[in-house]
Amino acid sequence: MNYITFDIEEWFLEKQNHGNRSEKIAEYDRYLNEILDLLDECELKATFFCVGGMAEDFANVIKQIDHRGHEVGCHSYRHTWLNKMQPNEVLEDTRRAINLLEQCIGKKVVSYRSPAFSIGENNTWALDILANCGIERDSSIFPAKRDFGGFSNFGHKTPVIIERKGCMLKEFPICMTTILGKEIAYSGGGYFRLFPLWFVKREMARSDYAMCYFHLDDIIPESSKMMSREYYEAYFKEPGTLVNRYKRHIKSNLGKKTAYGRMISLIRTFKFINLAQAEQEIDWSQVPIVKL
Ligand SMILES: [Zn+2]
Repeated sequence: MNYITFDIEEWFLEKQNHGNRSEKIAEYDRYLNEILDLLDECELKATFFCVGGMAEDFANVIKQIDHRGHEVGCHSYRHTWLNKMQPNEVLEDTRRAINLLEQCIGKKVVSYRSPAFSIGENNTWALDILANCGIERDSSIFPAKRDFGGFSNFGHKTPVIIERKGCMLKEFPICMTTILGKEIAYSGGGYFRLFPLWFVKREMARSDYAMCYFHLDDIIPESSKMMSREYYEAYFKEPGTLVNRYKRHIKSNLGKKTAYGRMISLIRTFKFINLAQAEQEIDWSQVPIVKL
């Protein structure tokens, strides 16, 4: 089974960090419309994990996604990484985001993805908070090492049921492949930009489970400017030296010119479902239970 998901925060971050430039907002609107049209044409429903803050200033974006029949999931309130927050802050952030999204679309929001896959071995308590806030499906676990975080000893690269102290979550981890003995993601984000399309297609074709995930800023060809020191430090919580910012800039722009076209090709090539459809499609009685 292949899953198609989008993480939606660009409008909100643009307003918060760059002053709400109308040409940038229009650009995001245009790309989102194109993607929604493409999904219609391919008869696919995706899960769009949206930051709750979008529901305050860009409610029309969330409503449009919902009206077109896609699942609206939660992607935190303001895209602060969960591993940079205390439990009470995560609880507050999650509640606030879910309330705003639910009010916006008038439906329950039960799927969640943390910003930058920021649930790892050191903050599994975040899963309890999600379940207590009504989340039933999560796609926050990156079961390998990565720059910031990752959950390298999670041990599962396909859907599982996570059981903890009486609460339960259906987990859809990011899928991995192995290159030279090393586990590596390939189906979204910067990884998707780095690998040639034939490679991604080959891996998906021979796998029973693929979780594709895209942020607009990861795939649209317009090159982004290097982050200011203030923005870098607020976002990554580490010194915004020129070297650090330059490295991040190169990394986040590699392969960007062709990524959008490659994503379109991928969507046209494979059959995908979203997390809501997985409720019926998966025989959950056969899915491994992980006690964390
Ligand atoms: Zn995100």
